[in-house]
Amino acid sequence: MDRRTGTPRDPGLEPWKAGGWQLESEPDASGIVRDGLTVFLTNRECPWRCLMCDLWRHALPDSVPVGAIPAQIDAVFQEVGNVAALDWIKLYNAGSFFDRAAIPIADHPAIAARCAPFGRVVVECHPSLVGPRVTAFRDLLNPAARLEIGLGLETIHLETMERLNKRVTPDGFARAVGFLKDNGCDVRAFVLVQPPFMDPPTASEWTRRTVEFAFGCGVDVVALIPTRLGNGALEALAAHGEFAPPSIEALETAMVEALALARGRGRVFADRWDLGRFAKDPDRLAAANARLERMNRTQSTVAA
Ligand code: SF4
Repeated sequence: MDRRTGTPRDPGLEPWKAGGWQLESEPDASGIVRDGLTVFLTNRECPWRCLMCDLWRHALPDSVPVGAIPAQIDAVFQEVGNVAALDWIKLYNAGSFFDRAAIPIADHPAIAARCAPFGRVVVECHPSLVGPRVTAFRDLLNPAARLEIGLGLETIHLETMERLNKRVTPDGFARAVGFLKDNGCDVRAFVLVQPPFMDPPTASEWTRRTVEFAFGCGVDVVALIPTRLGNGALEALAAHGEFAPPSIEALETAMVEALALARGRGRVFADRWDLGRFAKDPDRLAAANARLERMNRTQSTVAA
């Protein structure tokens, strides 16, 4: 339960059971669409508590025991079946993979061993935790595999960054990207579509600027995340007129604009999870979902 808003955690979270998994496809840097597996690991909640984040709802209040994370991955692999046929794996933990209270460092070798079949391993990390722990984990992986780190940039609008409580600055983000690139890692930046405290046209402008900044830092991928209600805090802001979720059209426009900025520099993916929140009309939703899926897959603009 969130003390400020009374919003509950997901029921049934268990240290030895992953929160879920899904099979996905996305193009690699050469444009070839590759199949992969995203595992949603259950672990201790992220200590940052950014204003717009509801990921803590899918996490536990306490650290999980050593051995629990590899066991979660094993159980998912059993359910999935032939994971060796997949090209990549994302291990998403609703926080930072390199937060030692979230993912025990003692488990890193066992986790890396389970990643051996994959050519790409993607984990998330707060920019301030980027450092030697990342390179130590990279060194445990199959030498043929690429390690990709997902970093939350969210926005480069300084006042909004501050109010989001992300405790990252554009300079800090750029330093983290520089470290990762210097050490042979790929980087995926998460950028918010319509963060709070901005009207839609201003938000749209700052999404463009943020995507441009991220590619300027050298990231390989930008993931556009429509800001979602759900953590209680954004509902409170919405009640005061300081936040409104983006329309599905705003996400589509952000994707088209980001694709133009990405040309020759990297890839852009629009996050299509729970898209139904952003469009009430089922036909409109289906059309937008199909368009975004096609743009994600082809990395080209698709007409509305
Ligand atoms: S650092 Fe990431 S996971 Fe942690 S609270 Fe902020 S947005 Fe959520």
